[in-house]
Amino acid sequence: MSVIDESGREFKVDLTNCDREPIHIPGHVQGHGALLAVHPDYFTILQASQNVATYFGTPAETLLGKELSILLDPTQMGALRDARQSQPLAQNPVYVFQGEIGGQGPFDVSAHTYQGILIIEAEAVDQIDPAAPDFQALVTESLVRLQSTKTLEDFCQAAAVEFRKISGFDRVMIYRFLQDASGTVVAEDLAPGIESFLGLHYPASDIPKQARALFVQNASRIIPDPSYEPSPIVPTLNPLTDRPLDMSYASLRGVSPMHTQYLRNMGVCASMSQAIVVDGQLWGLIASHHYENRRVPYGLRRGCEFLAKLVALMVRGKVDEEQSSYRQQIEETHDALVESMSRHRSIVEGLTGGERRIEHFVDCTGCAILADGECHLIGQTPTPTQVRVLAEWLRRERGDELYVTDSLSREYPEGERMKDVASGVLSIRLTKVPGEFVLWFRPEVVKTVNWAGNPTKPVEPTPSGDRLNPRKSFELWQEEVRDRSNPWKRLEIESARRLRIAITEMVIRRAEEVSRANVRLERSNVELDSFAYIASHDLKEPLRGIHNYSTFLLEDYGEALDETGRERLRTLVRLAERMETLTDSLLHFSRLGRQELDLQKHDLNDVLQEAIEATSARLEETGTEVRIPWPLPTVTCDGVQLVEVFQNLIANAAKYNDKPHKWIEVGVRSEGALPGEQPHVLYVRDNGIGIPRKHFESIFRIFKRLHGRTEFGGGTGAGLTITEKVVQRHGGRLWLESEPGQGTTFFFTLGA
Ligand code: ADP
Repeated sequence: MSVIDESGREFKVDLTNCDREPIHIPGHVQGHGALLAVHPDYFTILQASQNVATYFGTPAETLLGKELSILLDPTQMGALRDARQSQPLAQNPVYVFQGEIGGQGPFDVSAHTYQGILIIEAEAVDQIDPAAPDFQALVTESLVRLQSTKTLEDFCQAAAVEFRKISGFDRVMIYRFLQDASGTVVAEDLAPGIESFLGLHYPASDIPKQARALFVQNASRIIPDPSYEPSPIVPTLNPLTDRPLDMSYASLRGVSPMHTQYLRNMGVCASMSQAIVVDGQLWGLIASHHYENRRVPYGLRRGCEFLAKLVALMVRGKVDEEQSSYRQQIEETHDALVESMSRHRSIVEGLTGGERRIEHFVDCTGCAILADGECHLIGQTPTPTQVRVLAEWLRRERGDELYVTDSLSREYPEGERMKDVASGVLSIRLTKVPGEFVLWFRPEVVKTVNWAGNPTKPVEPTPSGDRLNPRKSFELWQEEVRDRSNPWKRLEIESARRLRIAITEMVIRRAEEVSRANVRLERSNVELDSFAYIASHDLKEPLRGIHNYSTFLLEDYGEALDETGRERLRTLVRLAERMETLTDSLLHFSRLGRQELDLQKHDLNDVLQEAIEATSARLEETGTEVRIPWPLPTVTCDGVQLVEVFQNLIANAAKYNDKPHKWIEVGVRSEGALPGEQPHVLYVRDNGIGIPRKHFESIFRIFKRLHGRTEFGGGTGAGLTITEKVVQRHGGRLWLESEPGQGTTFFFTLGA
């Protein structure tokens, strides 16, 4: 079997390539009528089906290039012009008249334009029946009965009954497409003695992809006799377009030889199919079979097409109705999750913290959230490791934002071991951060599917063995389907997509807020530093003056005062000195914030030695032993500032110690650093007086001291504040552990 393809080349059809067969340009018409392709303005005949010779009494070759009026009388031509003026003919076949052509007939004549060509179809009328039923009245009655059904199932059954009542076919089926494009007969009405196909499944290859697509364009397909004699269109290429005639909208369009063979194998003669298109998608077909050849008169066809359109609208209504409570549940959960996300800082808390949680979003048996470095599992799920590995596979192999399957093991080998809990997976990627996902799981559901014939063998070789035929056997073939969950609905998939967008937007908005807050914080830090600098710098001079004049007063006029007066002046001098030390500390602190870090590689052993030397007087005085159990690493840091860090910590360790044998240990640990930090945690430990837990935070406040001015050798209370500032400017953290009476350990890290 061969046809001519788009580029005018021969295309040999068999079942290995029938999903590519150009069925919209079959190059011939069925036998029950004749077709003319005409210039849309001049009405010159460009192409004709060869059977015009028998139908109109003039061979095609004689008609080509002539005006259409050679065949149609002036009234008929008038009717055609009127039709063209009053209705859009583009992609819309319109009934023009019934009458004789070339003294033969009568014919039902319809016309439409497609791709700039006027296509006129004349279908032979069997006999004119003056008592033809009033299809409009019949359809109206059907409608009333259809409207009274409750469920989608009942509705489909009623539709099959009504459709058969009007069309008179032996079998009318409501055929529903599944997600994988296979289909199943969900309702049926039969003439007495006709075999039932109810509940049977048909593989996707039975109605190939391009045939399904064509049904969305042109909802109606009638084949009165599958053994018809094909009548070729001549010439093959349209002289206006230089391409084969596109017959997508023509009702006489020739049928794929594969399909007529399929019908014959089934034992079916006439067939009629009307598409049920819901929201632009092919939801199903109203498929009618007859066991004799049968033409469908124009009025009846119109009635059937009209009823089919109503059925499609009502299916949509029923689907909506059945889904509406589920849709509402999803929408409410969506809103609750978004609201909860806005209240919680972490994604996991946001999705699990409210009354309606992520596992309530869609029907599932388990759920996983991979976010904030956590793997949070709810219900029946694979193990945390399995979930992490699956997420890694999704990230690597399925880069998309959404992934959905009802048979994970078919795509992911590890899925085999998880099918009890995760045959079905619906997953959304939350952010661009690698590995942030929400996954919903469904377990395997083992089902028996009744196929109309073995679906894995939809083809059989012909006796000559040179090409493949559609299967001959439609005997019940049962398949045990494993490794599959209940399928995910379109509603669920689209809702998950919407939730992903909402979460992602929120995460992005939050990140922007944080970065804006950081900018504000940085700015106010800079302002604070410069304020501290100006204040301490400018205070110094008057302070000096107060100190100096107090000293002069004491020296030159001390005798003139009594002892109380002199003591007050001495206090004034002392306070001025103390204030000077404080302003010096403040000045130093503010300089740290304004100074660029001089980052170099430094051996911390050298840095530590320098700090020990700088504090040697105090260490000796207090008799403190410094222990360094193992060498320190080399790190990237500002060496001068790091000396100061060690110096402060060592000085404090020696100072706040009342033990007879005082020691300090300076060391390094390899665990405890966070991502983004250099991989060492440095520490300075002492066996001193310790710090109560309630002061763990306040000791880092500037000028905060826990002791009287003269206790433990005094101090300004700025040392730890400065130390923390240096560590933080290095991108690290400073914290402590302490037990009062036992000792204190200060830890710090440095940023990478
Ligand atoms: P300063 O030592 O000048 O008072 P710091 O900012 O260095 O100021 O320390 C703040 C306070 O924290 C100190 O007054 C002291 O009470 C407490 N402190 C600091 N280091 C230690 C330590 N190693 N052991 C016990 N207490 C400490």
